[in-house]
Amino acid sequence: MAKKQFKAESKRLLDLMINSIYTHREIFLREIISNASDALDKRYYASLTDSTVGVSREDLGITIAADKSNRVLTVSDNGIGMNKEELENNLGVIAKSGTLNFKQNLDQDADINAIGQFGVGFYSAFMVSSKITVITRRQGEETAYCWESTGADGYTITECTKETVGTDVIMSLKEDTEDDKYSEYLDEYTIRNLVKKFSDYIRYPISSMVTKYEPKAGSTPENPDFETTEAMEVLNSMVPLWKRSKNDITEEEYATFYRSNFMDYMPPRKVIHMSVEGQVTFTALLFIPSQMPYDFYMKDFEKGLKLYSNGVLIMDKCGDVLPEAFRFVCGLVDSPDLSLNISREMLQHDRQLKIIAKSIERKIKAELSKMQSENREEYELFYGTFGKSLKFQMASGFNPQAKDLEDLIMFSSSKEKKLVTLAEYVDAMPDEQPYIYYATGDSMVAMDRLPQAELLADKGYQFLYFTEEVDEFVARVLDKYKEKEFRSVNNDDLGITVEEKDLTEDQKTAQNGVVNFVKETLGDLVSQVIISKKLKTSAVCLSAGEGVSFEMERYFKQAQPDSQVVAERILELNPDHPVFEKLGSTMMSDPVKAADYAKILLVQAQLMAGIMPEDPQNYADLICKLM
Ligand code: ADP
Ligand code: MG
Repeated sequence: MAKKQFKAESKRLLDLMINSIYTHREIFLREIISNASDALDKRYYASLTDSTVGVSREDLGITIAADKSNRVLTVSDNGIGMNKEELENNLGVIAKSGTLNFKQNLDQDADINAIGQFGVGFYSAFMVSSKITVITRRQGEETAYCWESTGADGYTITECTKETVGTDVIMSLKEDTEDDKYSEYLDEYTIRNLVKKFSDYIRYPISSMVTKYEPKAGSTPENPDFETTEAMEVLNSMVPLWKRSKNDITEEEYATFYRSNFMDYMPPRKVIHMSVEGQVTFTALLFIPSQMPYDFYMKDFEKGLKLYSNGVLIMDKCGDVLPEAFRFVCGLVDSPDLSLNISREMLQHDRQLKIIAKSIERKIKAELSKMQSENREEYELFYGTFGKSLKFQMASGFNPQAKDLEDLIMFSSSKEKKLVTLAEYVDAMPDEQPYIYYATGDSMVAMDRLPQAELLADKGYQFLYFTEEVDEFVARVLDKYKEKEFRSVNNDDLGITVEEKDLTEDQKTAQNGVVNFVKETLGDLVSQVIISKKLKTSAVCLSAGEGVSFEMERYFKQAQPDSQVVAERILELNPDHPVFEKLGSTMMSDPVKAADYAKILLVQAQLMAGIMPEDPQNYADLICKLM
């Protein structure tokens, strides 16, 4: 009989995986058991809608059998089974190339376990097996099929007989070598540990033969007589963790549960275990990961919680119960009020689900606020991982719910150089400070050197460092925090009154002369030239006026090179700076040279504002000429 080849991609993937993708090969058992459990769920689900299936929950289970003499480990289930076509599709095609890309882009040492969701879990069994035989009979069918493969070189499918519906996965273990003792997986003790570790909350019994060495009946302490007995025993505790009382669950148990269910090797940053009774009754077990999922910012990333109804999985990822802002949260919701026979479409209109979603949203927000006020260090770690995501959500599409999240975001402030909440910033504002100031830029050091920073510091005002592009969008969306408007330090009007110096008419005329000269020289390059009220030691600076900021202009240029979004350019001159005086006198004696000065000053102001001069060559020439 002809051997079918795995699809080419599959072959490469299989090689890769068997050799490197899993850091712990012991997880093969988890994968095979999970598949069995999935198959049981499917059959149970079928029984709810189809009376001919004729099984009840109690009938369903998984058994593990170890045959030491033949080095064979078998995992059997009486789940839904597979017909020939399903065998072809499910076990004949491994994964699409996206997965391969993922793997190829992985860090060499990355401790990645994220496999199950790629439809490759089954193949992990090849890490320990030289041959795998799958004997399976589909629910509702008489013919059984036997799928067999020794790995990368393909598989065969033949007809065979099987008394009962379900699937046997028969793994012939690889030969032991000096370093690799595959036979350990035939060991009772190892099997029990692996089941406990990875599959304890599988809701179907996982049974295995267990050997006991016990005193015989009639044996006395004086005259001991032992015997070895064997009996099938259920290895897993089955009761879902979330159904147990919070007080009885250790941190370690939560962490283990999280790691094995949500494909992370780090313990979660925060566990939220909530039970609600009332309009809708539900339990939710939520986790905030301590690291960002590798695909968090990828297009295919899907937020959502697992949805259970009375412990039966209805949906693996229900997006509707989790608000976009908290898309980084993972976990599950279990509610007896959700009907089992629901489809994705019906779920969207489910009133119960909306109530659950609202309640979950409020809870997550409350827990984050609590962490922020009670454990700032932890919150900062969280914020470092997901703060940007929060801000994105606030800014995206000018989210009307942005206000709800305003207390969760933080920025570094110029005085304290550490993250502060907006409330903390506003509380620290001197009474007369009119705005919440912010500077935009890549580095705090550069922002500190902004000419405007000095004036604010003199006044005892802090400003916030906006180091990420999204920050300014957030400020625009919020517009105000506690009645205080956000204002960029690049704005020409910082709302600060400085005492006007008493100038003689002559002095005023002289100043205006310089201003007009500079404006005429620069023409359309600037919209205005003004005498600055904010500069202390710098000669010039560039301000942006009310509209678009320089950062936004740059942002849109990057996104779209022919972007028409431009910020207004206002050149501010410092009348107290020696350069100003020099400009005035040169204007009289050598207008050509003074014009060069004006051009150079504009470029300087641009550079400080983070804007590349339109013509750097010309700037260089001007400088050389002067030298
Ligand atoms: P995944 O579980 O992520 O879908 P796997 O590689 O683990 O990927 O399994 C591939 C598919 O093979 C499963 O989705 C399922 O359809 C089928 N399958 C695997 N094991 C069984 C089983 N014991 N009973 C029925 N179907 C199974
Ligand atoms: Mg699987």
